[in-house]
Amino acid sequence: MAERIYLDWNATAPLRPQARAAAAEALGVCGNPSSVHAEGRAVRRGIEAARESVAALVGAEPRNVVFTSGGTEANMMALSPFVGTGPDPEPRDCLLISAIEHPSVLAGGRFPRNAVEPVPVTADGRLDLAALERALAALARNGRRRPLVSVMLANNETGVVQPVSQVAALAQAAGALLHVDAVQGAGRIPFNINELGADLLTISGHKIGGPKGAGALVKRQQALHFTDPLIKGGGQERGARAGTENVACIVGFGAAAAEARLALAAESARMAALRDRLEAGLEARMPAAIVFGAQAQRLPNTTLFAVPGIKAETAVIALDLDGIAVSSGAACSSGKVQPSHVLAAMGVAPPLAQGAIRVSLGPTTTESEIDRFLDAWIRLSKALLKGAHGIAA
Ligand code: PLP
Repeated sequence: MAERIYLDWNATAPLRPQARAAAAEALGVCGNPSSVHAEGRAVRRGIEAARESVAALVGAEPRNVVFTSGGTEANMMALSPFVGTGPDPEPRDCLLISAIEHPSVLAGGRFPRNAVEPVPVTADGRLDLAALERALAALARNGRRRPLVSVMLANNETGVVQPVSQVAALAQAAGALLHVDAVQGAGRIPFNINELGADLLTISGHKIGGPKGAGALVKRQQALHFTDPLIKGGGQERGARAGTENVACIVGFGAAAAEARLALAAESARMAALRDRLEAGLEARMPAAIVFGAQAQRLPNTTLFAVPGIKAETAVIALDLDGIAVSSGAACSSGKVQPSHVLAAMGVAPPLAQGAIRVSLGPTTTESEIDRFLDAWIRLSKALLKGAHGIAA
């Protein structure tokens, strides 16, 4: 039987061998990192080395990296009114987010629901900068001069890279702080927290080949702090996040970050070439396929496409039975398949959005896997289209 093909790297990446080895070794070391004895200090060294690697991946200072349980917690921690510089900063008075954020940002963190405002995107899936400028001006007119803005670096469904540096300029001019969810961009495109102009940045270990269960919120300046931490208790993570650290996952995250940084240029060029091969094959063999966000700058590893008349939920199952793991752009909650909020924000009609299939590649994806996917897709989609027409007739 042919080996399975994993093309769902935006959901989670397979463990990098370096991360697996580092995490396994850390599991074998006893000691609480907060203890002063030799065992504790040995574990502490592992965490601090990981902090350096994670900081280097995003161009930050190690002391500004706060480890969390993942991207979701880091987003929740970031989206707080109780963030600022100085001993007693005034709370932030509203939260502006793009309409295509991950659910962990859409939920609004610790802002009251009526203090959260979505900003639209254009048809190609990029944040509408003019709309953001208008929203910031309207807030200022209403006396709300302390906003927090949260915009992702790249969208998890379309892969569209967001105009973060321009967002940062607008945010700074309006006195806003900027949080960037860089979970999907990390390890796939080069960036640096200072050049982006982000005040806070989220990354997640398992998207870059680390273990699931570790992530980080990274600050640009040390002075930025949370006056009411999300998780209160002991003084771990310099008081920003209480609780004994998830040492093995953090150490594995560090090893994955180090490897992702070293390999970034080669891996992203390789993934882009494979993604182009996939899209060229789709275009040649199934011209009806529509690739979402194709006109915008995208991550090198992500293709979201649909073929009119094919439902993603059926196609994903058919591909799975054929040995191929991809994902649909639609979210399934309470047993009901909801069309993607990202495609809805881009103005894609619901019937087409319900056909969206996300194929996301990684550093170990091969040409022959792409070719096998294309063959399978052409065969299955033709059968599905025939079935759909058969039922309709
Ligand atoms: N942000 C984005 C853009 C994501 O794609 C994800 C996960 O899919 C998250 C945040 C959440 O990260 P985690 O799975 O580490 O909680």
